[in-house]
Amino acid sequence: MQKTSSRLAVVNNSTFEAAKVVNLHHYDISSALQTSLEFTELIAIFNSKIEALIPHSAYTYTNKEFDLEIKVGVFSKHSCSYKLKVENQSLGELMLMRNSRFYDAEIKLLETLLCCLIYPLRNATLFQQARKMAYTDPLTQIHNRAAFHEFLLHEISLASRYQKALTIIFLDIDHFKQINDDYGHSWGDYALTSVAKNIKSHLRSGDRVFRFGGEEFVVLLSNTNLDGAYHLAERIRETIASHVLVFDMSAVRMTASLGISLFRDDDSPDSFVKRADSAMYVAKKNGRNQVAIA
Ligand code: GH3
Ligand code: MG
Ligand code: MG
Repeated sequence: MQKTSSRLAVVNNSTFEAAKVVNLHHYDISSALQTSLEFTELIAIFNSKIEALIPHSAYTYTNKEFDLEIKVGVFSKHSCSYKLKVENQSLGELMLMRNSRFYDAEIKLLETLLCCLIYPLRNATLFQQARKMAYTDPLTQIHNRAAFHEFLLHEISLASRYQKALTIIFLDIDHFKQINDDYGHSWGDYALTSVAKNIKSHLRSGDRVFRFGGEEFVVLLSNTNLDGAYHLAERIRETIASHVLVFDMSAVRMTASLGISLFRDDDSPDSFVKRADSAMYVAKKNGRNQVAIA
């Protein structure tokens, strides 16, 4: 007969109760964290679940990969921070702050509770990476047309709700086919990338540029009226026209035609974009390398 050995584990009542409490917190936090794939929401949920257990006055969460810097609460001098990682995948850095130092028992508890945050953050990272890829134009690395539709609907709803001006600039490079014919498609690709960079160099943090398709770009300007949009469009036009690209010892210049429209109460997303597109065609008809207002 095979011999089996068994061990007797003796757990006193207080250890058992403590483990039970930690398990309950784990279950509660993990369930709550399953409800979102957005970093900001996940960190806020985690914070709301731990703030009674480990009191603190502020928290920060930074995630360089997604340009994220969340700061909530009143900053204080004592802090504890964690670089979160799983299988070499960075998941950002979380920091808690308060006026008095954190006790060892609190740190230990926080570290066990952080385990609940790791996999939800990893899932959010995978989801956000996929979303970023689906919304990025692979050539210019700016947002693509799918992203434009998403942002457009969002900005229209904000502009309508808060009665803010919303404008759009539609930009089309002039005679771009000729550039491809003269210098080749891959140099044309390089020229498109340089135009995207030139547009981006003029934008404020709330403004967004998208590759609409081919050699066409759109800029979405929240909180900006026609006058502001016109001045920006002029600056973009001038930058593109004065930028010299060098190809095989020859200096190549490009120009672009731009159209602007302002969102009206009776507009649909489509009619708003079409007006800017029509204005761009007016700029083409009037001789190119200019800005027209719808
Ligand atoms: P217009 O001034 O009237 O706008 O003339 P255009 O030549 O710019 O306009 P057209 O629509 O005739 O040609 C657009 C060209 O853009 C044709 C197409 O090959 C080129 N194009 C579109 N997408 C890309 C791309 O990703 N890379 C390159 N290199 N060329 C592209
Ligand atoms: Mg075009
Ligand atoms: Mg063109």
